[in-house]
Amino acid sequence: MSEKVGNYHEKTSLIRLGRNTKRSFGYVNVPPFEGSTVLYDSVESMKEINERQLKGDMSAFSYGTDPGPTHLAFYEAMNKLESGAGTWAYSTGLAGCVVPVFAFTKNGDHVLITDSVYNPTRSFFEEVMAKYGIEVQFYDPLIGSDIEKLIRSNTTLIYMESPGTHTFEMQDVPAIAEIARAHNVVTMIDNTYATPLNFNPIKHGVDVVIHAATKYICGHADVLMSTVTCNEKTWPAVHKISKLLGQKASARDVYLGLRGLRTLRLRLDAVVKNTTAVINWLENRDEVEQILWPAYPKDPGYPLFKRDFKGASGLFGFVFKEGTTDKKIDLFLNALKIFGLGYSWGGFESLLIRSYGKRTINQKPELSRMVRAYVGLEDPEDLIADLDQAFQAMK
Ligand SMILES: *Cc1c(COP(=O)(O)O)cnc(C)c1O
Repeated sequence: MSEKVGNYHEKTSLIRLGRNTKRSFGYVNVPPFEGSTVLYDSVESMKEINERQLKGDMSAFSYGTDPGPTHLAFYEAMNKLESGAGTWAYSTGLAGCVVPVFAFTKNGDHVLITDSVYNPTRSFFEEVMAKYGIEVQFYDPLIGSDIEKLIRSNTTLIYMESPGTHTFEMQDVPAIAEIARAHNVVTMIDNTYATPLNFNPIKHGVDVVIHAATKYICGHADVLMSTVTCNEKTWPAVHKISKLLGQKASARDVYLGLRGLRTLRLRLDAVVKNTTAVINWLENRDEVEQILWPAYPKDPGYPLFKRDFKGASGLFGFVFKEGTTDKKIDLFLNALKIFGLGYSWGGFESLLIRSYGKRTINQKPELSRMVRAYVGLEDPEDLIADLDQAFQAMK
């Protein structure tokens, strides 16, 4: 039986979250409320709404840079799913990874970032944060509670991502969060891989949870968006910095985010079934040396996955056997007909690309022979046949 989210089991909650027929005039969905100006009845109501807003009342609608009714519905749903005190959405996944960082860093601070971090987030720390006098240090994703040795008197932030979406190392998130807390260091995590359904970092002591909603939440390769959900302690600062930096997702995008949540568990279940079939087949291929999927019992991250996660998703990596040349891998990629050659993941369609990512601490020599597959909602027999003919094309 599934865990409860609020009063109901997860699947029921996913159908009900964020709905409020008063706000949507009886319609099932709150439509995308697009707009800049909000009109007030009187000077008095303008003053009253402004005051409510200053107190953090998200239903005090005042202007298009603040959340509107559609945002509120989606934020309520995300707060419930991630056990958060507040959520904000941004117009790309990357914006959600970087905007909250400004709330917890200043000139002279030291920050610890996982070496397996999403590559554009890494570039942000290296190229933007470093320029503003923040010392950026990358840590081994497998570090666990030894992170304590890296904490200094000026450390203000630890940024995690588990598993990494190219190399798939699982991190001991509860252990890192506990140590950070003891040293008064804020923790952020990019939780995109887990989705809000399979791992809830705030329950494990993390302060700020990011989702590239571009991936599974929206789920149809038609939206760029992120969500950031915070605990009580960090929400006021993230709320404030998001407004100061003028960051906000559009009403249409949050509408699609809320719609995506309705079917998220069903899509995940189907994708995991397909992924399992594909991996069971790949496991016996001579061309493949190693499979990287935390839900796979032979994966080094499996014990942590089993302990902390409620389920898997369809993104995994595999390493071609030693001696496989770049040219051979290119022949494989060019031969694929169903698996698309393109960035992103979490949609309905399967994708396959070369793995990439800069590493400075936890080197991955096999990265040059690694590819990243995303299994979508196609029939797994067709996916397997596609991989089979692409392996033939390498010969
Ligand atoms: C894709 C992705 C992002 C960024 O999302 P965009 O919408 O592409 O900017 C951030 N983190 C992870 C783990 C991702 O996979």
